[in-house]
Amino acid sequence: MAFFEIQQRDSTCAARTGILNLPHGLVHTPVFMPVGTNATVKALRVSDLVELKCEIILGNTYHLYLRPGTEVIEKAGSLHDFMGWHGNILTDSGGFQVFSLATFRKITEAGVEFHSHIDGSTHILTPEKAVAIQTILNSDIQMQLDVCTPWGTERKESEDALSTTAAWLKRADAAWKKAKDSGYRGALFAIVQGNFFKDLRDKSVELTLAVDTPGIAIGGLSVGESPETFVEYLSYTAAQLPVEKPRYVMGIGTPDYILSAIEHGIDMFDCVLPTRTGRTGRVFTRDGNLSIKKLENRLDCGPIDPECQCPVCRGYTRAYLRHLFKTQEILCSILASYHNIYFLQDLVQQARNAVQENRFLPFKNEFLTRYQQKNDSLIQ
Ligand SMILES: [Zn+2]
Repeated sequence: MAFFEIQQRDSTCAARTGILNLPHGLVHTPVFMPVGTNATVKALRVSDLVELKCEIILGNTYHLYLRPGTEVIEKAGSLHDFMGWHGNILTDSGGFQVFSLATFRKITEAGVEFHSHIDGSTHILTPEKAVAIQTILNSDIQMQLDVCTPWGTERKESEDALSTTAAWLKRADAAWKKAKDSGYRGALFAIVQGNFFKDLRDKSVELTLAVDTPGIAIGGLSVGESPETFVEYLSYTAAQLPVEKPRYVMGIGTPDYILSAIEHGIDMFDCVLPTRTGRTGRVFTRDGNLSIKKLENRLDCGPIDPECQCPVCRGYTRAYLRHLFKTQEILCSILASYHNIYFLQDLVQQARNAVQENRFLPFKNEFLTRYQQKNDSLIQ
């Protein structure tokens, strides 16, 4: 079986369904990937992820490299063995966290030097080292080291970032091929940058495609721009990518962004949002997002979402969940995170069904009309 097979394409937009063939099993796309930053999807056990039918989760190279350290994971055998998860894992390269978390960073030709946000210690991450770490983790999909620029970055800096990203891709690709020769089975994805300049996006796509990686991520989106700008640059960039390769957009996790990404032909996405907001008592419902801590839920003996089939909605009331939140009981985070991941898994399954039946756009419009009617937005 090929690395990626497209199963069905919707005739009215770029949405498609497919299957990714990875070392730890098949992944049905489009797919939402829950984020397990510190080798755990926060508040969920591995058995919950299995029950939630997750086929792939995310791990975080920067965090795992600093804590517990790659030697600990190497001793366990792989990140899968270390955390007891036997599905697939995609890991980022650590670049995004170096640029967003580290207390000091300096880009050199070799890579990026940074100070740990934990203890201030100095480290250097190079494209080769990012591949080496992710190979030790035994990631099913690993990402190249890149330079991500935020919304509002000026043209010159954006151009430098994409040039560095392209140069680092060649080095990552060479290191990945060496790892494969030594028996590593994971795939490498390249990352398109170019900030919010269309000609720079064009240039980045051209340089990215010159290196023939198994998959491609569209980076530098969801970095502070408006939803309209996000869609404009997502669709512009996605339209230039080869149809046959899987496409991944990082950092999106609300129904509106997810459905928009699927419409424009994106196959994979991830976000900490469903579990992060779950821990603050915010949950998805078909009628918009809900803050469980609100007074209006105090006497509400109904579920979070009457149509949701998850065990949280089948077994617990809004009044009880509000009580757990108010008393700061750990169970509140667990239940809210479970429901939020279930909700997105269900949404993406419905989206796949709609593409199979060639009715993705009517499905999207119907879902969002209801969802956005009284939306207490989760976007942060
Ligand atoms: Zn539910």
